[in-house]
Amino acid sequence: MMRLVRFLAQNRPAYGILDNDEVVELDGEGYASPLSRRAIHRAAEVRLLAPCVPTKVVAVGLNYRDHAKELGMAVPENPVLFLKPPTAVIGPGDNIIYPAMSRQVDYEGELGIVIRDHISRIALGDARKHILGYTCANDVTARDLQRQDGQWTRAKGFDTFCPVGPWIETDLDPDDLVIETYLNGKRMQSSRTSQFVFSVDRLVSFISQVMTLHPGDLIITGTPAGIGSMKPGDEVEVRIEGIGVLKNRVAIKRCSA
Ligand code: MG
Repeated sequence: MMRLVRFLAQNRPAYGILDNDEVVELDGEGYASPLSRRAIHRAAEVRLLAPCVPTKVVAVGLNYRDHAKELGMAVPENPVLFLKPPTAVIGPGDNIIYPAMSRQVDYEGELGIVIRDHISRIALGDARKHILGYTCANDVTARDLQRQDGQWTRAKGFDTFCPVGPWIETDLDPDDLVIETYLNGKRMQSSRTSQFVFSVDRLVSFISQVMTLHPGDLIITGTPAGIGSMKPGDEVEVRIEGIGVLKNRVAIKRCSA
């Protein structure tokens, strides 16, 4: 088990490995050189950031059989893809800002896949070796604007609408994990990734047939049944077995925990 973290060290972003109550800061840029160590910090004294800096966030619509059933929708033949801008990404503890344009902001707890290297058109059987690891994500969505616009760029693209973290777990079989979303401590979503219509390997291979993926790019894999709305002051948690808990609060104004 290895947890990769991005964090603030002396007010600059750094990469490291979280090892119980210590963060081992890595030398060089990114997670490329995990054996080269620069410094050790006490975990309690660092502030975690989003664990990756994606050039794009590729999101998948309708990828849980239970959610498709709940909506009365047919399971798609191919993954339905959309993009969230990298400017939407925030880290654990950062606030989700409720936009003045919307009257309905929903959570969508999702498994995040972080890409290891530059890949294009990879075969299904090669997908796993190009995955750095897995994290928790929240595909925050202004549901009213999604309905108004007919496409999803505005509804899913607001700044702060893509919480990610708290870290990247590298040693994990992603194919049957419990995934849950809690709102103010109450469980709202509960499923397993074995409910996926398209597996992790299939998604990575499929997306790489469309666009080149870069190190740190993030794929968010769709949400299970039980989506619902949040309001300012609410606390939302995405919990995934074998990874951890991503916690964020909804606020009117931007600030960090
Ligand atoms: Mg989603």
